[in-house]
Amino acid sequence: MVTVLGSTGSIGVSTLDVIARHPDRFGVFALAANSSVAALLAQCLAFQPRYAVMMDEAAAETLRARLPADCGTRVLQGASGLSQVVTAAEVDTVMAAIVGAAGLPSALAAAEAGKTVLLANKESLVMGGHLLMQAVRSSGARLLPIDSEHNAIFQCMPVDPGSSVPSLAGVSKVLLTASGGPFRQWSHARMEAATPDQACAHPNWSMGRKISVDSASLMNKGLELIEACWIFDLAQDQIEVVVHPQSIIHSMVQYLDGSVLAQMGNPDMRTPIAYGLGWPERLVSGVAPLDLIATARLDFEAPDEGRFPCLRLAREAAAAGGTAMAICNAANEVAVSAFLDERIRFTSIPRVIEQTLELMPVLEPSSLAVVESADAEARLIAAQQVATLACSVRKTGLA
Ligand code: NAD
Ligand code: MG
Repeated sequence: MVTVLGSTGSIGVSTLDVIARHPDRFGVFALAANSSVAALLAQCLAFQPRYAVMMDEAAAETLRARLPADCGTRVLQGASGLSQVVTAAEVDTVMAAIVGAAGLPSALAAAEAGKTVLLANKESLVMGGHLLMQAVRSSGARLLPIDSEHNAIFQCMPVDPGSSVPSLAGVSKVLLTASGGPFRQWSHARMEAATPDQACAHPNWSMGRKISVDSASLMNKGLELIEACWIFDLAQDQIEVVVHPQSIIHSMVQYLDGSVLAQMGNPDMRTPIAYGLGWPERLVSGVAPLDLIATARLDFEAPDEGRFPCLRLAREAAAAGGTAMAICNAANEVAVSAFLDERIRFTSIPRVIEQTLELMPVLEPSSLAVVESADAEARLIAAQQVATLACSVRKTGLA
């Protein structure tokens, strides 16, 4: 049975779409979301899970009141509810699709409980990669990457079905593709005036707002670089970021003999989700077959770290190691949220991250408590940077 964390989000909805195509194969044990009662209620009625979890207590109360009396779904709330529905004995697969650092404790609990973890929540690996990978190894859990690039790399790697981590035999390099986002061809001056809606208008993918802004700033690729290092046990210099604006190739693996294997398909997350749900079998996903004639061309270019400093900042955080990645991730979450609320400019996002990284010590991420405290402190410092920037924006009249 499957537990879907973040079921009302973009990945959650796509996961349930794939599950609904295979009623004989999958049962839904639990659905979990933050506070969107109406969306979770509709999903409960359609999928009849044993449990529904709302992080927000008042939302849990409302959901309880709205569920029809004859519905067998029990409503739980908060972190303890999440932990209960990922560790239950009946659950074999957990889709970890909560957005942001909030997804780490539940992803970690699923890994510690030895589940098959379908990992969409890249922030949990960026923050606590060391802890998460250690939990996977010691419990014998299986981590299957859902992020399209990592899923593509996984598909192109020489996987040993008996092992919980992919093999690197004969691999010389990983080519991590990036669409370049909606601002790929924008000047810095134009990006200074970018609005949240412009940043969220991704040319190829339809996603939640946080990851859409990350794609526009290329922080998404920075987070994915760190994610790939953890999942595939790679050093940073074994990964090359390649901008590929069509998003048809989802990433590539280069071998010692000169072969390069690519995974291609239409940009629709139901493909990697179906791959994760069915692995090692292939399942129907609802994704239209790729039309190569209509696609016509595949372009490639180098990323511009001058216009997109977030990629450089993520690289630097990865090189610094320890809690630097958690600090970088937390500062980014605070800055992105401030940008989405129109408190700072798009181009201020990397400033907030850089200043937060400069102001914080880097520690060994020896426990979840250390990582969570670095995350909390970074949020406070980043919020101060945001307040200063927002204040200067008001004074100078630069909206
Ligand atoms: P989204 O904003 O559409 O959905 C987020 C989900 O998480 C919602 O169900 C929300 O209720 C839930 N949530 C938010 N805060 C929570 C909290 N504190 N506790 C419990 N639940 C909470 O996000 P999304 O685009 O679906 O992305 C989810 C994750 O998957 C992110 O980590 C993202 O980076 C990753 N991802 C997304 C895509 C995509 O195409 N959308 C692709 C690759 C990776
Ligand atoms: Mg991705």
